[in-house]
Amino acid sequence: MSEQLQAKEISSVELTQYYLDRIREHDPALNCFITVVADRALKEAKKADHQRAVGNNGLLTGIPLVHKDLFCVKDVKTTCASKMLADFVAPYDATIVRRLNNQGMVCLGKTNMDEFAMGSSGKTSFWGPTVNPWDVTKVAGGSSSGSAAAVAAGLAPAATGSDTGGSIRQPAAFCGVTGFKPTYGRNSRYGMVAFSSSLDQPGTLTRTVEDAKLLFDVTNGVDTKDASTINTAADREYKLPRLTIGYPSKFFEDIPTPLMSVLADVRHTLEKTGHNFKEIELPDVQKCLATYFAISRGECVTNLARFDGIRFGFRSKEVSNIDNLYTKTRIEGFGAEVKRRILFGNYVLTNGKPETHFVKAQKVRRLIHDRYTQTFNDVDFILAPSAPTVAAPVLADDHDQFELYRQDRFTVAANLGGLPAIGVPCGTVNSLPVGIQLIGPRFSDWQLLELAAEYQRLTDWHLRYPSKFL
Ligand code: GLN
Repeated sequence: MSEQLQAKEISSVELTQYYLDRIREHDPALNCFITVVADRALKEAKKADHQRAVGNNGLLTGIPLVHKDLFCVKDVKTTCASKMLADFVAPYDATIVRRLNNQGMVCLGKTNMDEFAMGSSGKTSFWGPTVNPWDVTKVAGGSSSGSAAAVAAGLAPAATGSDTGGSIRQPAAFCGVTGFKPTYGRNSRYGMVAFSSSLDQPGTLTRTVEDAKLLFDVTNGVDTKDASTINTAADREYKLPRLTIGYPSKFFEDIPTPLMSVLADVRHTLEKTGHNFKEIELPDVQKCLATYFAISRGECVTNLARFDGIRFGFRSKEVSNIDNLYTKTRIEGFGAEVKRRILFGNYVLTNGKPETHFVKAQKVRRLIHDRYTQTFNDVDFILAPSAPTVAAPVLADDHDQFELYRQDRFTVAANLGGLPAIGVPCGTVNSLPVGIQLIGPRFSDWQLLELAAEYQRLTDWHLRYPSKFL
């Protein structure tokens, strides 16, 4: 697109209109979008065309994209898929939104997600679930469900997402797109509504790794508004040596055989190009999950305390005093999953419990981090599945909440360790996409991207479109 725009074969206005038309035609069936900003997008596109005409442009100028609805976009609704923020209009841009805007990228709208990014199916959204473009009776995954499905169905060329415990990589796997979660601290969290601040990391959902690189090049780097951001030398044109890749077969021995054979195919593809594989052991997934539970719930309680009916968004109408203003606002404003997490989070932070639960989880987190660091003395990267299954039916009975939480068992460790991870499509099972992830040591982002790009040069899974949305 960048080349076509530069050669004046298409204009940004045409490109933007093309995507807006596709959204109008297909989104009623998919529910990827919470807000579409057509007029504003066309205005931005016109400006981008002008910037190109006078030569004042970058590679990405005039290319459309969409933002997960937890990134603030100035003067646009930012709902986090919650009734609590259903009418909240952001007064400023999130840093990564601003950085992409500064390149002249065109925002088409805001995408659907699990409420406050809590979920793995998109089904906790106040606006109803996004469905999977490969099979509309299946979920798109979550929490970045709308972003993944929009890119998969060709309703947007690229999208932002956020990953606290797998919310970029898992929907990317379910929808057959590329999902990149950088090292914690590489992308600024400023202006992204917080779920669990020590685990949250903004990233992208794109068709290819090459696209992910173009976006990461713009978004990453120090931001004075987020003290956890870090600058490291940008080794953009990294030449990939032959690597040793860790293969933790015990880690994923409980996944179904068809998924296992997809994983084995990826291994063979990479082996054929000269990379070596080595058997490794990783921390027990059960321990990772338990640690993730205590930390993410504990932190979310603190972050959600600001939604009290006074400062932001929704307020219950029938209130008689300050106490029931808080209570009723939260009862009416939050969905069931958010409430469950607030309850659990308060439990781990309540009298006597921090020492035995929250603080203990922090200690185990450190051990998990150290185990990964140790492993990266032996191997350069780790290959693992992104999810233990393919996309489930939208109408599946979710009575077993813990089974749902267990779905995150392969993704949460990268967040606990602050490690970069990238999910790429690598096959299908029952005509539904399957994704694997590559995980690297902190700050190996560019090498990781290069390895994933190499895999995509050898395969064509990332180029396939769901036939209904061709
Ligand atoms: N599925 C995970 C959860 O529900 C991850 C969510 C996320 O990464 N935002 O906690």
